[in-house]
Amino acid sequence: MRFDIMTLFPELVTGILEESIIGRAQKSGVIEVEAHNIRDYSEDKHHRVDDTPYGGGKGMLMMAPPICRCHSAILEKNTEDGKEIKRKTIYMSPQGQVLTQKKAQELASYDQLILLCGHYEGVDYRVIEEIVDEEISIGDYVLTGGELPACILVDCVARLVDGVLADKECFEKESHSDGLLEYPQYTRPFEFHGRTVPEVLISGHHENIEKWREEKALELTRQKRPDLLDKKGEQGS
Ligand code: SAM
Repeated sequence: MRFDIMTLFPELVTGILEESIIGRAQKSGVIEVEAHNIRDYSEDKHHRVDDTPYGGGKGMLMMAPPICRCHSAILEKNTEDGKEIKRKTIYMSPQGQVLTQKKAQELASYDQLILLCGHYEGVDYRVIEEIVDEEISIGDYVLTGGELPACILVDCVARLVDGVLADKECFEKESHSDGLLEYPQYTRPFEFHGRTVPEVLISGHHENIEKWREEKALELTRQKRPDLLDKKGEQGS
């Protein structure tokens, strides 16, 4: 799977995505991530990419032409062999639907995601009309730029791609995968500050361990995120 990120600050995204699991997945070729500097597509002699908004108001707005040229270059580069590509262009935006695990699962079925990171006051609205298929937010608050949201999206989608994690089981039973939070987990030492690991986990009795985990997942969800249980109930009815 391929991620193309359009940004004014490519180092911000590459710095984050080159590390750890996502960095290793890139090195092994399971996923490809490329950050494109929108400034390289400015035809202005000073490489200008933003301007004041029509109608007045504070702040600067990213101009449409460099963004759309950058987008066209990405599309051209990735259609050379004529193969059908399942792809989507997403604008990271506080105005989009909030990202969920379900949305991440849907996006993981694409061959290519092109992510647009806004900055300053955002982008000229015609960019959204012209090239954007979907707007996605990472939460109902406003950040200075779309770079961190893009990294979050790449991280949560990429880890669902075959071969990125060692085992599918790593995410199949995780929080939000089936509408519940994950059960509590423990590792060595057996005793820490007087607290011991629940006996059932060292019993070796797989059925009992499974039953305990299911009960605890439900209990923790009820305690920490009762709203998830309401949603699960609604989906079931
Ligand atoms: N003026 C815009 C508005 O009121 O909707 C906000 C612009 S914000 C300061 C600058 C950029 O940060 C946006 O264009 C977007 O790419 C990104 N951004 C900010 N908050 C975000 C969020 N919650 N989710 C995703 N992207 C966000």
